[in-house]
Amino acid sequence: MEEHIQKRDGYTYYLTNIDCLRTSTEFNVVMDLDASIQELMPYLAACLPGCNYVHGSDVINLMESGHIVGIYPRQITMTMVKGMEEAERLCREFFERIQDADRRKDTITPVYKKRSTLGVLDILRALPKTNCGDCSSPTCMAFAAQVFRREADISTCSPFMDEIEKHGDLLQQMRAHGYSVPTSAG
Ligand code: SF4
Repeated sequence: MEEHIQKRDGYTYYLTNIDCLRTSTEFNVVMDLDASIQELMPYLAACLPGCNYVHGSDVINLMESGHIVGIYPRQITMTMVKGMEEAERLCREFFERIQDADRRKDTITPVYKKRSTLGVLDILRALPKTNCGDCSSPTCMAFAAQVFRREADISTCSPFMDEIEKHGDLLQQMRAHGYSVPTSAG
């Protein structure tokens, strides 16, 4: 369900319910850009600490204050937004960052491949993505973000633990970053 489509100078945004969770009080925000930022993406990636970007993939991923953000040439998506007020602020801030990168383009060294050593998406990738809710988080995405922020322990996800032997690499990487991980793996 799309709610309250808002037009601003340079972009439009709206909230959507989190898929499979119509009763959720948190939303995803979709921000449609009036103009493509495809050419700017290597410069923007250079300005976003901790982002993942591979030139040609046309997507920059990052974790920003608990939101999983996907930046595409004509669209930006952000998860776990509480309402219009937060969506307005986040969209404005991202649009300002785009404008700032564009203004400073001549002084920025573009990156064509950038990968943080451990990101929330690495954690999310290892989860079943069934949004079963057994871990008390509304979605696997929310749980991945909590684990990344060290607010939850990955061992709380029983389906993950059932297949723990498949995730030795991730657990080893998490351990290297100081996370507490189940001792039976890695
Ligand atoms: S218990 Fe695991 S599979 Fe279920 S919602 Fe939580 S993270 Fe997702």
